[in-house]
Amino acid sequence: MKSLYIHVPFCLRKCRYCDFYSVESNSVLVDMYLNALEKEFSLYSEHLRDLRTVYIGGGTPSVLSGDKLEKLLKIIAGNIQLAQLPPVSVLHEKGYLPASPLGKGHPPVSPLGKGHPPVSPLGKGHPPVSPLGKGGIKGGYNGNGYEYTIEINPATITPEKIEILGKWGVNRISIGIQSLNDSFLSLLGRAHTAGQAEKTIDIIRENFNSFSVDLICAIPGQNRNDWEKTLNRVLSFSPPHISAYELTPERGTPLWYELESGGLRMPDEESILEMYEITSRKLTGEGYRHYEISNYSMPGYESLHNINYWRRGEYIGLGPSAHSLIGGKRFGNVSDILKYCEMLQDNETPVESVFSPSPEDVIRETILLGLRTAEGIGLAGMPGIVRENTGGRIDEDAFIVKLDKHLQGGLVKIDNKRLHLTEKGFLLSNSVIVEVMRAMRL
Ligand code: SF4
Repeated sequence: MKSLYIHVPFCLRKCRYCDFYSVESNSVLVDMYLNALEKEFSLYSEHLRDLRTVYIGGGTPSVLSGDKLEKLLKIIAGNIQLAQLPPVSVLHEKGYLPASPLGKGHPPVSPLGKGHPPVSPLGKGHPPVSPLGKGGIKGGYNGNGYEYTIEINPATITPEKIEILGKWGVNRISIGIQSLNDSFLSLLGRAHTAGQAEKTIDIIRENFNSFSVDLICAIPGQNRNDWEKTLNRVLSFSPPHISAYELTPERGTPLWYELESGGLRMPDEESILEMYEITSRKLTGEGYRHYEISNYSMPGYESLHNINYWRRGEYIGLGPSAHSLIGGKRFGNVSDILKYCEMLQDNETPVESVFSPSPEDVIRETILLGLRTAEGIGLAGMPGIVRENTGGRIDEDAFIVKLDKHLQGGLVKIDNKRLHLTEKGFLLSNSVIVEVMRAMRL
């Protein structure tokens, strides 16, 4: 089973810290994109049969006008068997095991192939047969529904668009809030105000059971009190899922230049650690499960789509700049909307990079991704901790000696032959992960 990601490369305007691929939205370009995406879907038809989750991200998918948003959702519904996505409850019961890193039955060298007719199991022009029932956005998600997420931005969402999302079976909303402080929102170049953000959370929670509030901390000038105010306000809406990422000013972005020139300064390391500690203490105290370094959820509301990435499961990414992991290979689409459209018009695959990770790369990726999560990584089969003369049994003793400092310091834990970072370890994750790799001789 794979996950499906669809990249919508349009935004109202560019935020000052962002280097995701997106361009300013305009109607002509959106039409070209939707036509090209439909073509790309048709080329992937054979890989779209056993999906586990669907995620529409960007960019800002909600920047599309109502009719174009509906067209996007129709294209998706016309190419996948939405009603057959596994219910969230089943994925939880099954422990949601990822596909083997090297996959079964390798797909063609190019994941796109050529000339495959589109599969439209649900037919086009009809809303999907949603297990949530007609208009049944609320209810059903936490137990009976599948996971179908869309990212939205408070500046672009309307009641009409919310209705369209529900009609086409979307049942999880990821709201890009970032902060509930107007000065920080303006410094980040966000297109919305704190007031719009609060109204959006309110309207989303009235209509959807499952949603995430996405936040950014460690903004230049922000201190622990500012951060705590945003957190408290967000908690007053009781969102079932919260993501809290530390700001990373990407090289080449306006914010990065301003930091480089000394016009702005990032908070010092101590303040950042304080913000991280407050987040973890406050949210776990409220009953959230800290299931990944930057992600917290009420039980049953974890993002199964993202868990698939962290478990290194297979996924298909469609749209400009989207990436895929299929049959043990990584594929990257062109990060250029016009080139993407042109290539698909010419029946060419829009892939510009293919990478075949070596067995060592696979292990490194597994560790880097897995140690971000509370479930950690299974130790069986990891190099450096398997004694050759014991038939592959785990030489935990030798490994424990190498990691003794961190085990003693309470940064890592080993139980049931799995290695996890602790809450304290999450805090210092970068350096701890490097040491774990060293202990494994990677
Ligand atoms: S809305 Fe999201 S994708 Fe668009 S520019 Fe801002 S951060 Fe980047």
